Amino acid sequence: MNAPDLRPPAVRTACPYCGVGCGVLAAPDGRGGATIAGDPAHPANFGRLCSKGSALGATLGLDSRLLHPMLRQDDGTLARTDWDTALTSVAEGFARIIERDGPDAVAFYLSGQLLTEDYYVANKLMKGFLGSANVDTNSRLCMASSVAGHRRAFGADTVPGVYADLDEADLIVLVGSNVAWCHPVLFQRMQKNRRERGAKIVVIDPRRTATAEDADLFLSIAPGMDTALFSGLLVHLADTNALDDRYIDAHTSGFENALAQARAIAPNMATIARRTGLFVGDVLKFYELFAANSRVVTCFSQGVNQSAQGTDKVNAIINCHLATGRIGKPGMGPFSLTGQPNAMGGREVGGLANQLAAHMNFTPIEVDRVRRFWDAPRMATREGLKAVDMFDAIAVGKIKALWVMATNPAVSLPRSGAVREALGKIELFVVSENVTSNDTVNSGAHVLLPATAWGEKDGTVTNSERRISRQRPFLATPGEAKPDWWMVSQVARRMGYGCAFAYESVADIFREHAALSAFENGGTRDFDVGALSGIDDAAFDALDPVQWPSHAGQPSQDTRFFAAGGFFTPDRKARFVAPEMPTLRDAIGAEFPFILNTGRVRDQWHTMTRTGLSPRLGLHAPEPFVEIHQQDADGAGLTDGGFARVATAHGSGIFRVAVSAGQQPGSLFVPIHWSGETASCSRACDLVAPNTDPHSGQPEAKATPAAIAPIAFAYQGFALTRRPIALPTEAWWTRVAVTGGTGTLIASNEQPETWRERALALLHKSEPAIEQAEFAEYLDARRGIVRVAAFRDGRLDGALFIGPADAPPRWDAVKALFEAEALADPQRRMALSGRAADGLAETGPVICACFGVGRAAIRRAIGEGHASVEKIGAALRAGTNCGSCVPELKRIIHEHVAQPV
Ligand code: SF4
Repeated sequence: MNAPDLRPPAVRTACPYCGVGCGVLAAPDGRGGATIAGDPAHPANFGRLCSKGSALGATLGLDSRLLHPMLRQDDGTLARTDWDTALTSVAEGFARIIERDGPDAVAFYLSGQLLTEDYYVANKLMKGFLGSANVDTNSRLCMASSVAGHRRAFGADTVPGVYADLDEADLIVLVGSNVAWCHPVLFQRMQKNRRERGAKIVVIDPRRTATAEDADLFLSIAPGMDTALFSGLLVHLADTNALDDRYIDAHTSGFENALAQARAIAPNMATIARRTGLFVGDVLKFYELFAANSRVVTCFSQGVNQSAQGTDKVNAIINCHLATGRIGKPGMGPFSLTGQPNAMGGREVGGLANQLAAHMNFTPIEVDRVRRFWDAPRMATREGLKAVDMFDAIAVGKIKALWVMATNPAVSLPRSGAVREALGKIELFVVSENVTSNDTVNSGAHVLLPATAWGEKDGTVTNSERRISRQRPFLATPGEAKPDWWMVSQVARRMGYGCAFAYESVADIFREHAALSAFENGGTRDFDVGALSGIDDAAFDALDPVQWPSHAGQPSQDTRFFAAGGFFTPDRKARFVAPEMPTLRDAIGAEFPFILNTGRVRDQWHTMTRTGLSPRLGLHAPEPFVEIHQQDADGAGLTDGGFARVATAHGSGIFRVAVSAGQQPGSLFVPIHWSGETASCSRACDLVAPNTDPHSGQPEAKATPAAIAPIAFAYQGFALTRRPIALPTEAWWTRVAVTGGTGTLIASNEQPETWRERALALLHKSEPAIEQAEFAEYLDARRGIVRVAAFRDGRLDGALFIGPADAPPRWDAVKALFEAEALADPQRRMALSGRAADGLAETGPVICACFGVGRAAIRRAIGEGHASVEKIGAALRAGTNCGSCVPELKRIIHEHVAQPV
């Protein structure tokens, strides 16, 4: 959205959110912030950014930052300490527990947000020097099934294709992948291909997502049945002579066995239709499209991976590409779209408990190779515990020390209520973090280590197409924050491993990591960046985005794998995999008759510790919700906009009801982003079953049996305050950033008089320091209405409005007043009316987050004749940057035609 500013001191860096890995230009503003623009020279995005990337400049504040090491005191409080005391207590604690209980009594839990160098050092310390492989990562929740599927089929965790394939494909199949919201810049590349080259897009997903709305064919598949659909495709390809026999014979093994199993799963179209819940005609249309287009890319992400049969789903997809030889050539191949910015980098260094380092495994030869390279005294010789098992081991006291880096497992792991309980009991709990408070920190961390954040960090990340980019600092490091690699190295030194962790800089670590990738490689391993092992500090600083492999000699670009075989199995052939019969691990029943699906919303990232700071990002979906089909809502007595309690065998939460035609009957959808910091009781992962895939260990976050029931609140309302407020546990609340402060949405059964008293207290009337604040109030107890507004320094300083649930107060008009720097008297007089004041137009919910364009403005523009996406773009700029809102713009235009304002 912003014009790229290449003038010094703009710094080339990479976006910290999704696995697209967009290049970013950041120009510091000298006041701790920065102007952000897409980097036109970066081959992942060519200057584009999505709404989240565009809003990075609004997330750089220090208000919630952890700036000093903290230690838990005997009285239970956290108190500031110095680095030496904090690091020594970590080193001594880990050493004590290892000495007493052995190396498997300790663990690290890492994150796809870490840079490769942080990851490398943490993995090296645990696996080479502490003697355990208990290093796992939140990437386990994201793409572990893709890793396992790649390793089963290719013999290595290799993504064969590159983003350019999305520009050159004639058919793009998106499986369990809402790219319009989750990988928006890639979605734009796909849409450009569709517009300019006529590529077709097929979307396979139980939900009609924003991506599905812009597809040529949408298959609303039954939850968990992707393997049935792709097994049927393999059979169809075999029965219609669409196989590439030469490729199968020359470069693969196991085809007949896989085809026989595919025939058992999908013997005929009627069975496929029954298993998948699809119409025969739609299935056939998809199969014929796939058969007819040799340039086909099949992209998959969380809808495939987050499953107790996720690895089989991945292999069912890969089978179809191997069978047609459509792999590793321009415009074709299976393509795992990675969720996190550096999930791929974590895989490269062995940040998963079942990998060693540099894409090596735990065979004796590989363990010995890494031992020699690291000169490691205490090598782990077997796999460690994967994420869900790791936290189970914490719960039963087998793991007694845990170091969590840059992630929030108390919110994001399945059955997260039990995870919080387990964390509260662990003997030594260390957290390196950016923020002073989140659900993990609040679960009883003993040591808090302040970590550098995006804009301060220095190192590398690798995106979904194997492209390594520099993340460069452009802000001064605040307080005493330090990079995670420094903390780990300091702890290692205090444990007696100083020689192996004597890194002076992040470039030192990168060179060692690159050298290990080439060590005794000789083409036997896919991951090889040996060409970069000799770069000096200046070359590392200046490193352009580079794709691996980068063999000794020269780095390469746009490298694909496997067009002519050369897999990383012992016989160099790919393996077809015969998948299990598809089924959901837990069946629905009378107590829990719905299938609960979880996922993301367009403008938020993970648990919102960063995106939650941006008012622009907060207002597209400001509160936690549950999507349900109208038919199910009617059956359960739910109304759109009301409230529901969703419960599973593992937990429950309260959510706003959103009736959606895109939701399948029998399914519910809840977003993952809300935590105890941002809502009173709406953590999605509290509800998720801890069922895991047997090959990948990835939890099934898409199919937990659930119940839903209405919950009544007599009153609803909102507060607008300059700082976050605390509300009693009786009230349901959720918090969102608004311009100039915090918005809190409220539902309650407490009487209006109680809310009036609370409002006056919350808005600080009683505090002498702001006695000069003037209050306006309106109370109608009989109708259940209370409105309180506080004015100070010529502006609306705060407001709290409560009304009856059947006519709740709307906050748009009051928010417009709250956001204004100064109010004229007539505007001020409108504050308690809840109606728009002259000169302060309501925007309504934000639709285009890139340009902050609200629904109300869009509907006004349509009413004035701008009734197409292009015309709205010309009038308001909405939809002209990342394009994520285009499907929504189309829907609003369609609604307006049906029901004009
Ligand atoms: Fe960041 Fe958006 Fe690019 Fe993903 S698509 S890397 S979130 S700007």
